[in-house]
Parts: sequence; structure tokens; C-alpha cells
Amino acid sequence: MSIKLPELPYAMDALDPHISKQTVEIHYTKHHQGYVKKLNAGIEGTEFEGMPLDEIVMKSEGGIFNNAAQTWNHTFYWEGFSPNGAGKPTGAIAEAINKKWGSFEKFQEDFNNKAATLFGSGWAWLVKNNVGDLEIVQTGNAGCPITDGFTPLLTCDVWEHAYYLDQQNKRPAYIDAFWNIVNWDVVNERFK
Ligand code: MN
Repeated sequence: MSIKLPELPYAMDALDPHISKQTVEIHYTKHHQGYVKKLNAGIEGTEFEGMPLDEIVMKSEGGIFNNAAQTWNHTFYWEGFSPNGAGKPTGAIAEAINKKWGSFEKFQEDFNNKAATLFGSGWAWLVKNNVGDLEIVQTGNAGCPITDGFTPLLTCDVWEHAYYLDQQNKRPAYIDAFWNIVNWDVVNERFK
């Protein structure tokens, strides 16, 4: 049994103009697929072969961890978007955000700042900690918050490959566009 690349939950052009079809195509079929391929090659004949992906992320290190976590992170990233994404959260997650940050705008400012200031390649995450409170965390390179006991709710990939074709070096422009496609229904499900 090998790790499979999950299907995208929408068409390649569904996130356009916020994330272009070309970026989704290359990001999904080259980068995400590439991590899956390297992961399967790396785990062949090891204790990790046949293990569920999240367990590999929790138990591995080095190259196997990098490819497993990048596989996990990208699937989580794609599943957090919708072509009909609303600008603002609703339901329980909206209440929790308001409780912690006072307003959605303050939360966005904090998240944008964490995503923009992450040095080099990595990810910005909205997570639930082990006492049920919300936090925004950064992970470098392939880092995945499940290894720190967090429940991830939403992520923004800030590796240059996520935005360079659309925005060149302007990471903040990509982060602004990101908010237009967040699927808050999915974030609410993850928060439960
Ligand atoms: Mn990526």
C-alpha cells in the first residue's frame, strides 16, 4: 500500500484569479505530487511502509519526515479552500476568533504578520491548542503542527512556489488573495 495523492476538491482553475490555474497546476501536479513520489520511494522496505500518513509524520525524521509532512501539509492546504469562499468566518470558529482577538480584522492582521514574516520557506497556521484555545503558529520548511500536539485548522503555504508565478516576490499580495478562498465551513468542521 502506497501513499496516494488525494484528488483536488475543485477544478484547477477554480481558485482563479486569487490563485491562478497555472500556479495550482504546478503546485499540485509537480510539487505536491513530487513529495508523494519521494515519500513512497523513501519508505519502501522500511518500518514506515503501509503506515498511515499522519503516523509517519509523527514518527519519522529527516528526508522521510520532510516528504511525509509536505504531503500532509499540502493536502490540508488544498482542502481549506473553496471557489465560493466567503470573506469572513461564521459559526463557532467566528466566535472563538472574536473571543481571542476581539475582531476578525485583528486576527487577520496577526495571521498576515506571521505569514509575511516567516523567514524563508514554511507555513502559517491557525491551530487549536491542547486546552482548546486558538493560536497562530509558524512552521519552517516542512514543519507540521500535529507534531507539537496542535489541531491544525487553516494553513497558508508561504513557500515561494505557492505564489511566485502570480505575485513574483510579493508574498503579502498572495496572503491578501488567500483570504478570498478560505473555506470557513471546513475550518469549522476541523474546529469541532
Ligand atoms: Mn507548497
